[in-house]
Amino acid sequence: MAKSYENEHPIKAFGWAARDTSGVLSPFNFSRRVTGEKDVQFKVMYCGICHSDLHQLKNEWGNSKYPIVPGHEVVGVVTEVGSKVEKFEVGDKVGVGCMVGSCRECENCSVDLENYCPRQIPTYNGYSPGETLTFGGYSDIMVTDEHFVVHWPENLSMDAAPLLCAGITTYSPLKYYGLDKPGMHIGVVGLGGLGHMAVKFAKAFGTKVTVISTSANKKQEAIECLGADSFLISRDPEQMKAAMSTLDGIIDTVSAVHPILPLLSLLKAHGKLVMVGAPEKPVELPVFPLLMGRKLVGGSLIGGMKETQEMLDFAAKHNITPVIEVVPMDYVNTALERLLKSDVKYRFVLDIGNTLKATN
Ligand code: NAP
Ligand code: ZN
Repeated sequence: MAKSYENEHPIKAFGWAARDTSGVLSPFNFSRRVTGEKDVQFKVMYCGICHSDLHQLKNEWGNSKYPIVPGHEVVGVVTEVGSKVEKFEVGDKVGVGCMVGSCRECENCSVDLENYCPRQIPTYNGYSPGETLTFGGYSDIMVTDEHFVVHWPENLSMDAAPLLCAGITTYSPLKYYGLDKPGMHIGVVGLGGLGHMAVKFAKAFGTKVTVISTSANKKQEAIECLGADSFLISRDPEQMKAAMSTLDGIIDTVSAVHPILPLLSLLKAHGKLVMVGAPEKPVELPVFPLLMGRKLVGGSLIGGMKETQEMLDFAAKHNITPVIEVVPMDYVNTALERLLKSDVKYRFVLDIGNTLKATN
């Protein structure tokens, strides 16, 4: 029998995949590895749709390996554990985020920063050992090393899956860059999946939050439902001017190329602009405004496994959940089109458990 994704591993699996840069998804039969001694096998219940899925489905970052089964905000229920698994039992609720492997011995791995390991293995569109393409959570089952699996807190609804990427990606830089101190004034640019979680975490840390958005129609909800203190339209120069030098830090979640200078102007001296959005092309970074106020521009990538569990436990304790639109699997292509137009408040979540049906 010719080698195919369907027979390269022993366990039958089913999901939706894109075959080319059109990014259009359709049903896909493939296979998962046998549950190894340190592996957890679980049935996927919910999976969030991240803008990174869209970037990669369309090869916007230039590293796509087709077929792509996306999905890195995955929540499910354990169906099997390997003989040396210590942290999980059958029936446990679990989550998997953006990575499923790393070297476990480099200077980053040894301080719980697997996300910065040069050999980090992404949950999909990467290679696991043996040059096997990884496939994500738009699928019925997953088999993952327990180190990259987190406990899903009991009082957290399983459809809050976006915490696993949108949540940790905004929680981690707020903490690392010291933007979590009560009384600080934090800006959040782009009110999408990541942005709305940034607002919720920044508020939970006791900071004042200003949303900086291109969408005037998001203002009322941002203030009334998400708890933002104020709202700026980034394309309104008057509003931006009036808010100059008011922010201690900014989390920029924008998925497309956009002007940076107006954001630097919003920062106080010594303020920090943290980029977490990942536009496909470089943004223009004017240097003089950085020099003048000793300002800093940084980046941040998801978070390590220890911090991801910490973030989930914090979210469960403080009742921080994403605002989601739960959709059936066969709605995925429409959801991706709407995501491209910023037409979602604020994250799509696929109801995999109830709506993913095998075709054969
Ligand atoms: P999203 O839900 O689409 O949100 C992005 C938001 O950016 C939009 O809602 C919109 O907000 C704003 N925006 C879109 N186009 C814009 C433009 N041309 N100019 C100005 N603002 C624009 O996406 P997401 O899932 O939150 O992801 C955001 C970005 O973060 C993506 O690039 C994704 O790949 C990246 N990401 C990075 C990490 C990491 O570890 N660093 C992790 C996950 C995702 P308004 O309507 O409010 O303007
Ligand atoms: Zn993501």
